[in-house]
Amino acid sequence: MGEAKRKKRLRAQLLEDNPVCIYCTASSETVEHMPPVIMFTRRQRPKGLEFASCEACNGGTKHADLVAAYIGRSMMQASGEAETEDLLAILQALRNNLPDLLLEMRPSPDQLTIAERELAGQKVLNVGGPLAAGFMRQFAIKLTFALYREISGRAVPESGGVLARWFSNYEARTGRVPPDVFQNLLPPRSLRQGTFDVSDQFAYSFEISPDGDFAR
Ligand SMILES: [Zn+2]
Repeated sequence: MGEAKRKKRLRAQLLEDNPVCIYCTASSETVEHMPPVIMFTRRQRPKGLEFASCEACNGGTKHADLVAAYIGRSMMQASGEAETEDLLAILQALRNNLPDLLLEMRPSPDQLTIAERELAGQKVLNVGGPLAAGFMRQFAIKLTFALYREISGRAVPESGGVLARWFSNYEARTGRVPPDVFQNLLPPRSLRQGTFDVSDQFAYSFEISPDGDFAR
């Protein structure tokens, strides 16, 4: 069977097994990749973490994906040629689609002083503004819905809820992340396909109650 045909069959199977969108109550129509391919170097992403989603939930959050990719990938320390090219392409997409957000993310003089003093002059972004916060909240909530589906085997029910909080690497480096956030979590998981491993780019840890009703 050809690769395209195989993919089509897997996609049809996923939608048949999961007739309802994992994010809302609409019928599933598309395969959602969470985290999205834009988060990965050269858009190379192993299989896995693919979910049944409606068209609106899948396509309606492209801007949040773009912002999360920009902020997330700007935080990466080691940047090779591929990463730099990707970041420039993401930046161009932000210029085209969300110019106000780029203005908002320009660091203030005070933030530049802090970066100079505490981060050895490393490039910084101001992620404290309302636009960045809104997109990151949207992305974090979607990611949490998807990961809950992955670890529990079921979607968050209509009566359920998701609470998302995100931290920057500046907060992590300066001890502003509450220590209990990472306590009692299982060893991290990532995506892997054969020898193709992206644990240097993405990992998640969680804890889940025996009945699967609560997870973090
Ligand atoms: Zn939906």
